[in-house]
Amino acid sequence: MFHETQAAGPPVFSVVVPCYNEELGIDEFHRRISLVMDGLGRSWEVVYVNDGSADGTLIRLEALRSADPAVGLVNLSRNFGKEIALTAGLDHARGEAIIVIDADLQDPPEVIPELVTVWESGYDMVYAQRRAREGETWLKKFTANQFYRTMQRVGGVRLPQNTGDFRLLSRRALDALLLLREHHRFMKGLFAWVGFPSQAVLYDRAPRHAGSSSWNYWRLWNLAVEGITGFTLMPLKIATYLGLGVALFSLFFGGQLVLRTLLFGNRVPGYPSLMAVVLFLGGVQLMTLGVIGEYLGRVFNETKKRPLYLVERAIPSQVSLLPQAQ
Ligand code: UDP
Ligand code: MG
Repeated sequence: MFHETQAAGPPVFSVVVPCYNEELGIDEFHRRISLVMDGLGRSWEVVYVNDGSADGTLIRLEALRSADPAVGLVNLSRNFGKEIALTAGLDHARGEAIIVIDADLQDPPEVIPELVTVWESGYDMVYAQRRAREGETWLKKFTANQFYRTMQRVGGVRLPQNTGDFRLLSRRALDALLLLREHHRFMKGLFAWVGFPSQAVLYDRAPRHAGSSSWNYWRLWNLAVEGITGFTLMPLKIATYLGLGVALFSLFFGGQLVLRTLLFGNRVPGYPSLMAVVLFLGGVQLMTLGVIGEYLGRVFNETKKRPLYLVERAIPSQVSLLPQAQ
């Protein structure tokens, strides 16, 4: 066992970093995060989650782990996706304040001292908000914007605009967040759902340092569907009212047809309108079934009650065994 005076309990800060194919950038990331965290002058650990990387990320992380006792490592059994990798890291974080940051240096670690200052003034959730989006196409900016607006209008949770997962959480906010064990994890929405006094800190987002983003438009679209279906039943309501609207329209249209036939006889045109109505109704029905299916699929996934992730290996940081810097 270690010496008693050295057993100083959990660190003040935990930095949680999901990593997927980050072998090129991870050393530089660790150098920069260490500089910033050391500058805070209090005990800290960093929990790296290897999310089933296909490159040498795990080897790089193991090297970091053996060189620096502040490093903790959680190796997932396969790739589970960023949101779940992040959750795994949060489950393993022991700090009083927990900082969530990407490994690709798009979230500049130099913003962390500002997050900490706001946390110290009594906020539970300090999120970093992008001032500008460099290195991103107008299409990505536009779609992102539209998504935030839709979520705000129909989602029932207020998602702060231009905000990713880069943020600081107090221990009580994190404990609350960890109560939410749903499989379809739309983290931005979950963060917002938790509530607690929240505050934004503005920063400039940099283009990726190394490697390439694993997000393409298909994955972003799926993320948006996740956000909508996870937080609102609005699409189901829209389907209901669409059905109601179409039914009402058909009633009048049908009535008008019957009347016309009675008054003027049947001159058998009608084929185009018949086709139009049949195709339209078929489309509406398929779409509505699809919407119901989206929700049903999610219910199916949740009822299986599988664990969120599987850990191949978890090595905690050694911070609590070190003499404290405080
Ligand atoms: N990431 C992960 N699992 C995945 C995809 C990404 O852990 O399946 C990590 C990745 O290593 C990075 C962060 O999540 O630290 C953000 O990923 P990325 O930069 O690709 O996304 P973007 O910045 O475009 O949102
Ligand atoms: Mg990124």
